[in-house]
Amino acid sequence: MYNNEDREVRKIVIDPGHGGTDSGAVGNNALEKDYTLLISKYMYDRFKELGVPVAITRDSDVTLSPTERVNSILSKFGNNDDVIVLSNHINSGGGQGAEVIYALRNPDTLAKNILNNIGRTGQTTRKYYQRRLPSNPSKDYYFIHRNTGRTEPLIVEYGFIDNQKDVNFLNNNYQDLVEAVVQAVSNYIGVPYTPPGNMISNTYTVQRGDTLYSIANRLGTTVDELRRINNIEGNTLSIGQILRVPMETITDNEEDIYIVKRGDTLYQIALDNNTTVDELKSLNNLTNNTLMIGQLLKLPSNLVPEDTYIVQRGDSLYSIASKYNTTVDALKEVNNIESNILTVGQVLRIPTVEESQGSTAYTVQKGDSLYSIARDFNTTVDELKSLNNLENNLLSIGQILKIPAFQSLETTYTVERGDSLYSIARKFDTTVDRLKQLNNLSSNLLSIGQILIVRE
Ligand SMILES: [Zn+2]
Repeated sequence: MYNNEDREVRKIVIDPGHGGTDSGAVGNNALEKDYTLLISKYMYDRFKELGVPVAITRDSDVTLSPTERVNSILSKFGNNDDVIVLSNHINSGGGQGAEVIYALRNPDTLAKNILNNIGRTGQTTRKYYQRRLPSNPSKDYYFIHRNTGRTEPLIVEYGFIDNQKDVNFLNNNYQDLVEAVVQAVSNYIGVPYTPPGNMISNTYTVQRGDTLYSIANRLGTTVDELRRINNIEGNTLSIGQILRVPMETITDNEEDIYIVKRGDTLYQIALDNNTTVDELKSLNNLTNNTLMIGQLLKLPSNLVPEDTYIVQRGDSLYSIASKYNTTVDALKEVNNIESNILTVGQVLRIPTVEESQGSTAYTVQKGDSLYSIARDFNTTVDELKSLNNLENNLLSIGQILKIPAFQSLETTYTVERGDSLYSIARKFDTTVDRLKQLNNLSSNLLSIGQILIVRE
């Protein structure tokens, strides 16, 4: 019997790959060690924010030998199987997309979940796998798996530094990629995931000829502010260095939007704007009465429709999609957005359930049949025909078919290590109570291998 409630929260060690004299992979004017540090520091902040015990092997540009790195990992929370090691890397060698590599001693659950979540950000996914040492196939190929004792280590390769598309994706969406990993790990260890709070969003990659002054001017900020949020002391920048960029300052001259100020309460804001606390909460999708300074609230009016969301500091398309049970693609589609960059105060329309389920496109290839396409996309011939208004089963090469997206035909789920009713409810977009009702459960106890009905 496996009782998730009784288990202590697992611990995370984040390992930014490479560093110092070891730059890691190089391409497109960028160094792997800079991206791994940027990604890892943000990841560290996020686990902190979620209350998960977390440590990091380096938080600056220092060199670590493999032995020093392993010793550092094992010294954080000991050599224990309740420690998860996330070793962050950027690949090179002419491919495109993300990979996750897990240790021979571990199940594939977390690697699979991380890669699936990365796929939801829009990044291409390649595979999750184990890799064996050719000279001794009973051992792991990578030292981070082989020499890290009883911990559960994963190498996450977010993309290829020598692929322009991947580098662009990293520059614009590294936070979404981190959120994908944080959410997968949170689910795995049974910690409720919440989107980022008051964290800084955009980034800028230093180009040849840039100075702090020219960047500050271009971005409408100051040299001091850039130094402050990037922890920079002097004026030295390197080409390819990634800077955090302050979000633009906004004012609430927009009459239907209110910016929360120090000392504000929902009650006072409701009074001042002729509305009620309940209406404010439902309009802004608030689950409690806590406000943050700088938070943007929608005020009731005929001008801002109900199914909209106002982008807050720290939001990403991915975090908004998670909050509203939709997808990044659906959000972009209904809002006609091309890039993943958002501005604070931007008003987004939230897709309807139908729009969220949406569809993707597939171009018919030589040899395809409706049957083979349905099988490949885990759907049915009937579903394909109805979605595409097809009268018969004839296809022509080059024909573009809509494919039902984000749909699972499964109605049952087999409990895996690390699952809780909560994490399963999240995965299948249902509630703990509903799961208990469907399965006649009187407690929250699950056993590995138990088969749960997840939907009717
Ligand atoms: Zn690497």
